[in-house]
Amino acid sequence: MITLNEQEYKSLKEQAEQLNTVTDELTAALSLLQDISESASAMIWMSGSDQKYHYFNQPFLEFTGKQLSELSGFGWIETVYPEDISRCISTYRKAFTARQRFEVIYRLKRHDGEYRWIICHGAPRFRGEQFVGFIGHCLDFTEHKRNEILEQTRSEALSQVATGMPLKFILHTIVSGIEKAKPEALCSIQLLEPKTLKLKNGAAPSLPDFYTQEVEKLTAEIGIGCCGTAAVTGEIVIAEDINNHPDWQDFLHLTQKAGLHSCWSAPIFSSQGEILGTFAIYHREPHSPGKEDFTIIRHAAELAGIAIERARDTEQLNRLATTDYLTGLANRRVFFQRLEAEISRVQRSLNPASLLMLDLDHFKDINDRFGHAAGDTALKTFSDIIRQRLRDTDVAARVGGEEFALLLPGADAEAAHHFAESLRNVIELTELHLGDTLSIQLTVSIGIAEITPQSSAEQVMSRADQALYLAKNSGRNRVCRAADDAA
Ligand code: GH3
Ligand code: MG
Ligand code: MG
Repeated sequence: MITLNEQEYKSLKEQAEQLNTVTDELTAALSLLQDISESASAMIWMSGSDQKYHYFNQPFLEFTGKQLSELSGFGWIETVYPEDISRCISTYRKAFTARQRFEVIYRLKRHDGEYRWIICHGAPRFRGEQFVGFIGHCLDFTEHKRNEILEQTRSEALSQVATGMPLKFILHTIVSGIEKAKPEALCSIQLLEPKTLKLKNGAAPSLPDFYTQEVEKLTAEIGIGCCGTAAVTGEIVIAEDINNHPDWQDFLHLTQKAGLHSCWSAPIFSSQGEILGTFAIYHREPHSPGKEDFTIIRHAAELAGIAIERARDTEQLNRLATTDYLTGLANRRVFFQRLEAEISRVQRSLNPASLLMLDLDHFKDINDRFGHAAGDTALKTFSDIIRQRLRDTDVAARVGGEEFALLLPGADAEAAHHFAESLRNVIELTELHLGDTLSIQLTVSIGIAEITPQSSAEQVMSRADQALYLAKNSGRNRVCRAADDAA
């Protein structure tokens, strides 16, 4: 037993009281820290010197909808968007080794299944000199990040429109941009074919091929999924839960196989208000759109509208610039270009090719007897007969009033003669209907020139013209070959 004198007892008592005060202060400080951590809007975490995470504040647990035990260690990785995991881990590991502050931006799954953009700042913790782990705080900055991505997508897509990139490419940019802004979304753009009302796939990189192929077979109608309805009504159509939506009941075998559970579809309009297609967002779980989702859908549909309308205008312009307005065949300029390209091919490959010049016989008489409109109808019907007999690689053009030219790659003079003779025969035997009661018969004269590697386009045309002249002079309704090709 130790006996203390009064002096010693007093000093010890004072020390004990001081210790109590310090303990009280420490407890108060700790509880203040805890209050700050738990009431902060930031999500806070801490890890130990073994790299493992051991603390997540209440906001972190509430955001992810997980228990501390589920996130601890490296459990939190499960909630990170798969594409971002390796970047997150390597940033953390590097900072850990260097014991340096770090910043990382990644996508984290919220309790409702939506991936949100997170910015996380981490800093090393020291107790005295000793390194004891990391502390970090994370903020949800999805709105900011989404706006940034949407703005980037918009400017990228518009610059692609301006530089005349192919439509498929631009639609892919739009869809990928929206999927980046909303990582859990699977987007698609469908193009409405005005005549057939079929919804053709414009871009759907995340949907399975079998699904887009089946959708292409459907005709847009009310009740045919969200896109079919949206393409006909011009309204945004929302199926929060596909399995329980009346418009989807006939297609559940497809959506279930593709793992799709919700679909929101918006019509795409032209500047004139014509419906050009649909923009759709699918989810793998039932999902209802928030206010900001409607903004995104409209935004994407508007961009797609600009791209599709521009592509259609360009297509129309190209068609006007390259085809003959009456018959739809290539015009003289395009034919000449194709002929020049074919001559180069013949020079390279030494494969044969032939040129046919055709001129309708006594066509003036048709106009004189039945009128110019009847003559036009005859020219169109004649062109249709030619078109039906062409292979994909052949080129047919209207090179003058009632004069036509055909380019037959792969055909030598003999094969070209055979083709020309059968065409001449068909024309002679076909009755051209010029109205309900009026039908006439036409004949055609044809001149052939085989393309030789050393000839220019003008020379080949001129040789075929000479052969045509010969056919006319020897009685019309016949086929003649250029003098140097003659059999
Ligand atoms: P040939 O057997 O010698 O070729 O006699 P042809 O009457 O066919 O030849 P010609 O060159 O004398 O007359 C061509 C006619 O084709 C004259 C013109 O009225 C007609 N024609 C040319 N372009 C068009 C057109 O776009 N529409 C119509 N309806 N007729 C056209
Ligand atoms: Mg003529
Ligand atoms: Mg003629």
